[in-house]
Amino acid sequence: MNKPTAVPTPPNPSADAVGQSTGGSSETGYAAKHTPSAASQATLNTDKLEEVKKLFTAHLENKGLRKTGERYAILEEIYARSGHFDVDELYAGMKERGLQVSRATVYNTLDLLVEQGLVSKHQFGRNLAQYEKSYGYRQHDHVICTECHKVVEFCDPRIHGIQTMVGDLLNFHILHHSLNLYGICGDCRAQAAARNPHA
Ligand SMILES: [Zn+2]
Ligand SMILES: [Zn+2]
Repeated sequence: MNKPTAVPTPPNPSADAVGQSTGGSSETGYAAKHTPSAASQATLNTDKLEEVKKLFTAHLENKGLRKTGERYAILEEIYARSGHFDVDELYAGMKERGLQVSRATVYNTLDLLVEQGLVSKHQFGRNLAQYEKSYGYRQHDHVICTECHKVVEFCDPRIHGIQTMVGDLLNFHILHHSLNLYGICGDCRAQAAARNPHA
């Protein structure tokens, strides 16, 4: 009954093109990489963004932290993005849009958002952490190419079943999980075969 949903290998997979299956809708242009006009994307997700902002406000108030414009600008930038990104990409994206924030603010705001579960943090086998928005987006796991570092997302309901079963069995209230599969993608294997046809 449970068949894995092979999610979204984009027609022309580039490192940034994963994750466009998220909202479940099929607006064209949403997956286009790095659209500087965040306005059109933002309108697609206005309701979700408002919810996320409210949650973030509550979190800042709980912790007695200041509700600065910079922190909300970072949150908006993250929710206007699709796919995975590292701190440098986030920082560059904000700079491109004329938003002045310090690196330290970017780091500590990301920490707050991860702590609250509004953003997920991944390692993907490299030193550099990658992030993605997570509130209201479909739960998914990742397959990572160790050659070209492409990351592809997939969903398989059986993983949620395992999580529930293990929680019951070991008497844990499971909060979240992280599952990364590593391998060599078809493109890299084809390139290797072309370079070395007799291997
Ligand atoms: Zn590859
Ligand atoms: Zn992902």
